[in-house]
Amino acid sequence: MVSQFTDSFDRSFYYLRLSITDVCNFRCRYCLPDGYQPQGVANKSFLSLDEIRRVTRAFVAAGTEKVRLTGGEPSLRRDFIDIIAAVRENSAIRQLAVTTNGYRLARDVAAWRDAGLTSINVSVDSLDARQFHAITGQDKFQQVMSGIDAAFAAGFSKVKVNTVLMRNINHNSLQTFLDWIRSRPIQLRFIELMETGDGGKLFREHHISGSVIRDRLLMQGWVSQPRGRSDGPAQVFRHPDYLGEIGLIMPYEKGFCASCNRLRVSATGKLHLCLFGDGGISLRDLLADDDQQDQLQARIAACLSTKKQTHFLHQGNTGITQNLSYIGG
Ligand code: SAM
Ligand code: SF4
Repeated sequence: MVSQFTDSFDRSFYYLRLSITDVCNFRCRYCLPDGYQPQGVANKSFLSLDEIRRVTRAFVAAGTEKVRLTGGEPSLRRDFIDIIAAVRENSAIRQLAVTTNGYRLARDVAAWRDAGLTSINVSVDSLDARQFHAITGQDKFQQVMSGIDAAFAAGFSKVKVNTVLMRNINHNSLQTFLDWIRSRPIQLRFIELMETGDGGKLFREHHISGSVIRDRLLMQGWVSQPRGRSDGPAQVFRHPDYLGEIGLIMPYEKGFCASCNRLRVSATGKLHLCLFGDGGISLRDLLADDDQQDQLQARIAACLSTKKQTHFLHQGNTGITQNLSYIGG
C-alpha cells in the first residue's frame, strides 16, 4: 500500500492527467494539422470505463487530489458522462476537470456538471472567428463561445480558457483578450508553444516566450498570485479592474520542472512520467481486476524513482511526443 506518490527529487504528485481517447475532430496547426490519423495499430483500444475506474482509484489512494480528463477530444467518447461519474466515485478527489475544444459544451455541459465535473478548460486560440477557423480547421468559433456561456449558465463559477501563444498569430492580441475577461470570470491561460516531433517548423517560426506577456501585465498593474499544491503549472495574475485572471504556462522557463506535481496516463493505459519524457510504462495488465490495486500502486511508485529532474526541451529533445493529442497536453 502506497500512501503518497513521490519521486527521488522530493516532489509529491497530487495531480493526474488522464487521456481517454486519441481521437479528435479538430485540426489545430500545432497539434494535428492533418487531422486525427488512426495509427493502424491492431488491438489498439482505449481504456474502458472499468479500467478508468481502477486507475483513478489507485492514484487517489496514493494522494491524487485532482484528475483532469483530456485527449484527443475527451468529449467525443460516447460514455463521457459515465466516465465523469466513475472518476467521481472517488470521494477524496477535490477537483475533476476536463480540457476540451468546446465542440460539445453547449449541448452537454449541464449533464457533465450533474455527473460531477467541477472544472472546465476550453481551448480558444483567437477571439476572431476567421482566425479561430484558420488555426483549428473548424468554423466553430460561435459554437465554442456559446459553450462557454452554457458552462456559466450550468453553474460553473469560473471557466479556464487555454490559448497557445504564437508569435505573429496571436501574441499581439493581448488587449483583445484582456477586454474579453474584464467582466467575465475567466482565467485565460497563455501556453507557450511547445516543440513536438511533428511541429519543429511551426515552433521555429512561431514560438515566443510568455515573458513578453508577463512584462506587459506587470507594467499594467497585474499581480502574481501564490500557487496551491495540486494546482497546474500556470503562474496566475490578477488585477483589481478585471473579474478575469491571466495564467502563464512557460515550460521553457528555468525551474519549471522543480514544482512538477503531475503524472499522466495515456488513453491506452501507459504511465508517462513527463509530457516530453519517455515511451511510457504500460499499466494495462494491472487494470483487469479490482484486486490488483496494490500491485498497480507498487509499479507506479517504482517507476517514479526513475523520473528525471527536468525535461530536455531546451536541447530540442521532445522525447517521443509527436503531438500532444497522444498524451493530452
Ligand atoms: N482537445 C482538447 C483541447 O484542445 O482542449 C484536449 C487535448 S489538447 C492536446 C490539450 C491542450 O494542449 C490544449 O489546450 C492545446 O491547445 C494544447 N496544446 C496542444 N499542442 C500544443 C503545443 N504544441 N504547444 C502548446 N500547447 C499545445
Ligand atoms: Fe484536437 Fe485539442 Fe489537438 Fe486541437 S489541441 S487538434 S482540439 S487534441
